[in-house]
Amino acid sequence: MGIKGSSTCQVFFNDCKVPVENLLGEREGGFKIALNILNVGRVKLAGAAIGGSKRVIDASIQYANERNQFGRPIAKYGAIRHKLAEQAIKTYASNAAIYRCSQNIDDAINDCVASGMDKESATLEGIRQFAAEAAILKVHGSEVLDYVVDEGVQIYGGMGYSAEAPMERAYRDARINRIFEGTNEINRMLIVDTLLKKAMKGELDLMTPAQNVAKEIIKRDLPLFGICLGHQVIALSQGISTYKMHNGHRGINHPVKNLLTGKGEITSQNHGFAINREETEANPDIEITHVHLNDQTVAGIRMKNKNCFSVQYHPEASPGPNDSMYLFDEFIQNIKNN
Ligand SMILES: Cc1cc2nc3c(=O)[nH]c(=O)nc-3n(C[C@H](O)[C@H](O)[C@H](O)COP(=O)(O)OP(=O)(O)OC[C@H]3O[C@@H](n4cnc5c(N)ncnc54)[C@H](O)[C@@H]3O)c2cc1C
Repeated sequence: MGIKGSSTCQVFFNDCKVPVENLLGEREGGFKIALNILNVGRVKLAGAAIGGSKRVIDASIQYANERNQFGRPIAKYGAIRHKLAEQAIKTYASNAAIYRCSQNIDDAINDCVASGMDKESATLEGIRQFAAEAAILKVHGSEVLDYVVDEGVQIYGGMGYSAEAPMERAYRDARINRIFEGTNEINRMLIVDTLLKKAMKGELDLMTPAQNVAKEIIKRDLPLFGICLGHQVIALSQGISTYKMHNGHRGINHPVKNLLTGKGEITSQNHGFAINREETEANPDIEITHVHLNDQTVAGIRMKNKNCFSVQYHPEASPGPNDSMYLFDEFIQNIKNN
């Protein structure tokens, strides 16, 4: 379809012997290097996409100033000016993010070297730390380019569709960027996976921002219903700590008692942490509404005089099967009241 200046073909290396002095790193360590090459490639792809965007913006501006319709250059019309502005806005944002990420990677590599790592390992580590950002830049840069080129075609009007003018080629050439270096679908999944892995390793603090959001919602008394981790986020936001349970609660048929109604609920649960019961009981703003009947752990709380409640279990997956549906009814009612 496009990038016709670049030949694309498959290359096979079957039983290919690589001289020891040509090894890029440790034997069996190639996969790590290959993954990091993809990370660097994604940052570079974003840079190339922004280079393409800038060229298309230049051509769009030039054409908009040259092409006269209804007695004036089309650059004088608001609709065209809006397109040019949007092209510039999106390109600038992507451009700035690429500079920032590239500097962050350089800084991380230098920090690793300063802490005694050899340059090769430091480079791999520095790039690894920004794998999510590399994927974000790749997705954003390639989609900005497609947007910019599409609007470029539109600004050129009929000539945008003609192979005589530059936009037709730009349109075809741009399209590959959403496909290679990992499709944008795969990169989107990678972003989430990488961020969650970082959070699990303690490299990324997701909990404090989540608690701040909960605090803000509670302060404004907006409706809030926490489920599982959401329940713990609400408790943490109110100064109640969590602790790691011995085995956690996993699976279906966990019996819970609703202390407000005295009724039992058969629930689905999947958690390894629980909120501290003594601290919850001592908190004047919070009431325990549900307990787990097997071990008396806190299974639900509500904030007194607020539209905020939460449960440790999963009412959306109730094996009851409808025992816990009243929670959603209450939450929806809270939303309607607000
Ligand atoms: C011009 C060109 C140059 C290339 N250059 C190189 C190169 O230099 N080096 C190299 O290694 N490769 C290169 N490639 C290959 C390129 O990286 C792959 O084509 C690309 O990664 C997509 O893989 P695929 O074609 O097998 O698509 P598929 O994996 O078959 O994907 C098809 C569709 O399904 C989606 N999809 C697949 N799996 C999932 C999933 N789990 N969840 C959701 N959606 C999914 C994809 O996003 C895509 O939309 C090149 C390709 C082209 C066209």
